[in-house]
Amino acid sequence: MAVQTEAKTYFNYINGDWVSSVTNEVEASTNPANKNEIVGYIQRSSIEDLNEAVTAAKQAQKSWWKLSGVARGEYLYKTADILERRLEEIAETMTKEMGKTFGEAKAETMRGVSILRYYAGEGVRKIGDVIPSSDSEALMFTTRVPLGVIGVISPWNFPVAIPIWKMAPALIYGNAVVLKPASEAAVTAAKVIECFHEAGFPKGVVNMVCGPGSVIGQGIAEHPDINGVTFTGSNSVGKRVGRAAFERGAKYQLEMGGKNPVIVAKDADLDLAVDGTISGGLRSTGQKCTATSRVFVESEVYETFKEKLLSKVKQLTIGNGMESETWMGPCVSEEQLNTVLSYVEQGKAEGANLIYGGKRCVEGELANGFYVEPTIFENVDLNMTIAREEIFGPVLALIKVHNIEEALKLANDTEYGLSASIYTKDISNILSFIDEIEAGLVRVNAETAGVEFQAPFGGMKQSSSHSREQGQAAIEFFTSIKTVFIKA
Ligand code: NAP
Repeated sequence: MAVQTEAKTYFNYINGDWVSSVTNEVEASTNPANKNEIVGYIQRSSIEDLNEAVTAAKQAQKSWWKLSGVARGEYLYKTADILERRLEEIAETMTKEMGKTFGEAKAETMRGVSILRYYAGEGVRKIGDVIPSSDSEALMFTTRVPLGVIGVISPWNFPVAIPIWKMAPALIYGNAVVLKPASEAAVTAAKVIECFHEAGFPKGVVNMVCGPGSVIGQGIAEHPDINGVTFTGSNSVGKRVGRAAFERGAKYQLEMGGKNPVIVAKDADLDLAVDGTISGGLRSTGQKCTATSRVFVESEVYETFKEKLLSKVKQLTIGNGMESETWMGPCVSEEQLNTVLSYVEQGKAEGANLIYGGKRCVEGELANGFYVEPTIFENVDLNMTIAREEIFGPVLALIKVHNIEEALKLANDTEYGLSASIYTKDISNILSFIDEIEAGLVRVNAETAGVEFQAPFGGMKQSSSHSREQGQAAIEFFTSIKTVFIKA
């Protein structure tokens, strides 16, 4: 492989040291806005590297857990300060490596800072309850213990926030971690790990091994000394990870895809609904698990909503995320771009009506990157592929409905259940929506793609293994409960 000398090589982080893989192979991470630009080289590791990291983590975890929660929290506070200091630089790397706009990348990095501080504070919160025993001479209570070593497998679309929202709770509750970041955004992840390193974590508590998902990710799922596996990514990979972890009795947590609906009622504030649909569906080039993809609109306001939507989508600026005027950057890779384009072709072939976009952008500088136009279909039938499968691109399907009851029925007609929103002022619509929508994130007059780190996050149906991440809910996955009974 031709190595660009100015691009830096990033190493694995094992037992407190930056080390190259035993394979001595590296892989280039490139800029989706300019396929000729190499952002950095990452290690193409083998199982041997993973084994080393797991051994280090296993060894370090015992004394890490012996520290008080306050002491563990201090390391997270320090990491937060370092990440905040490096915010612009790390956000720039993110934009260059996976394409989201610099503004979004800065917001995500700041979210990482806040998550670290939030979980640092968890070190002093309660970890158990006293429960009255039927024996009046006994004391019965619960306490929590860490799982041990946690394997973290993360996707590329939130390369700062997702590793942090998994690692921070894992660490505060006394676990050691081995991170396998997505290959498409591993340079960004390496910079996050540099922050943990600078914060001075004891050797082996935090580790990172880069390499192919089928080797290192699968290796984490199967490793006998990894006690818990937390995965975010696609359904096909997630199911495989879950099965492997289950087979060997490890705890696992899977957060996967979405096919998120928005319902626009006839009484909705249509401008708000249009803005929420655009932001929820097209921001980050539609590459969010919570991205809006199906838009159910009551027939009375369908045409007005469509016209307003089209007129705003036409004004969106597409370009390199580092340019301040850019609203939407490229797809993360050529493969992802081709996936989006093939869904567009399938939509047309199955009879949906393409009313906007649908093509690769090839004008000027855009020809060097993996850009696609924001895309809108109408006359979409729920049996069509574009209405059923997660596209992970800026594609919206408009579906006209007679009433809210029909919208709810159709919105639930999917194997996914991550996020859903409704735009309405009618309280009975809102209450039916909260009761009936099959989604872990239920949003009223707000876009589907909104997440707050202090609240539980996760999906229903095939979007999730049904545990919850973030907020105080994270303790459920990263610890085991012990029920203690003491007889006086
Ligand atoms: P992906 O292809 O499933 O990859 C996710 C992670 O799994 C990456 O680190 C990947 O490594 C690794 N991997 C690949 N093959 C593996 C295997 N056989 N065993 C174990 N690990 C393996 O997903 P992605 O393309 O990165 O991310 C997009 C998907 O993530 C979408 O479906 C999106 O909805 C979902 N997502 C869900 C949430 C949520 O919280 N629900 C949030 C964000 C994204 P490599 O990169 O080396 O292949």
